[in-house]
Amino acid sequence: MNEQLKPLLEIKGLVTRFHTLDGVVKAVDGIDFEVYEGETLGLVGESGCGKSVTALSILQLLRCPPAEIMGRILFEGKNLLELDREGIRKIRGNDISMIFQEPMTSLNPVLKIGEQIAEAARTHKNMTRQEAWRWAVEMLRMVQIPGPNSRARQYPHSFSGGMRQRTMIGMSLSCNPRLILADEPTTALDVTIQAQIMSLLHRLKDEFNTAIVLITHDLGVIAEMASRVVVMYAGIVVEEAPVKEIFKDPRHPYTQGLLGSIPVIGRKRQTGRRLQEIPGIVPSPMETPSGCRFHPRCSKVMNRCCRQEPPMIRLNEHRRVSCWLEAHSTVKKSQAGGR
Ligand code: SF4
Repeated sequence: MNEQLKPLLEIKGLVTRFHTLDGVVKAVDGIDFEVYEGETLGLVGESGCGKSVTALSILQLLRCPPAEIMGRILFEGKNLLELDREGIRKIRGNDISMIFQEPMTSLNPVLKIGEQIAEAARTHKNMTRQEAWRWAVEMLRMVQIPGPNSRARQYPHSFSGGMRQRTMIGMSLSCNPRLILADEPTTALDVTIQAQIMSLLHRLKDEFNTAIVLITHDLGVIAEMASRVVVMYAGIVVEEAPVKEIFKDPRHPYTQGLLGSIPVIGRKRQTGRRLQEIPGIVPSPMETPSGCRFHPRCSKVMNRCCRQEPPMIRLNEHRRVSCWLEAHSTVKKSQAGGR
């Protein structure tokens, strides 16, 4: 997919470390992936796998404790890690926006909603006060806030959680960004509101031709929204595939575990198996296991897995997986082909 398109964003060898009093926390440990124009890429994994830190590293929003970000983050060919403060400030909001899980952390509680959207438009779009206010009302209408004229005059506390998230989506789109980083945008909302927000995001993405990196632990959301998936575990990428292929034929045991833990009505009757769980927890980024980082939790672990980190195996143009099982089967296939 997308082989003829140039990537909008290229992450190359990204490493993000935090220096704490207890030692070095390797939150992201050398990852690569691309995002293409207008696509939705799902970034999945359990909490603590490095998904959010990856997004925050892209926009250099990590401040406390001091983060060390290495590698290359190419946006339209420009390395964001080489920009100065002013350069990255221009990129934020203008070209790349971020939507967080809890909109209240991004909204100013003492500023009217309309003023907040208008301020973003004035900062990035060079509008007059009046133009920006009209723009803000239009944005609220676009994200389906009822009565946008009067709602624009209200403060965030008068909005429900769903309306606040709609407002954040409106703000993030107000400068027509090329890319939105959406970090668990619906996790804090009721299920019915989640569906509304996702369908709104999907519609607006198509309207604005914005690419989205959708960070979530919810594979149901990924199935609905994304075209490709990158699976992260303990700070690294373990599998990447088009969404249809990953649901049909997940190759990494961690991806298989994530899919097996989605509740499906009637699964026991159809397959004779109950909901599966992945035993254990994600390791601390200060103490990643030797060899394959997933080996203490993997049901298919072999001796080699505990000692040697598996290579990243490219299965085809669109799929890659980091697992010794895949490496062995690739060797067997090439031996069989050579006979
Ligand atoms: Fe499991 Fe080994 Fe593959 Fe790691 S490399 S996922 S431990 S089979």
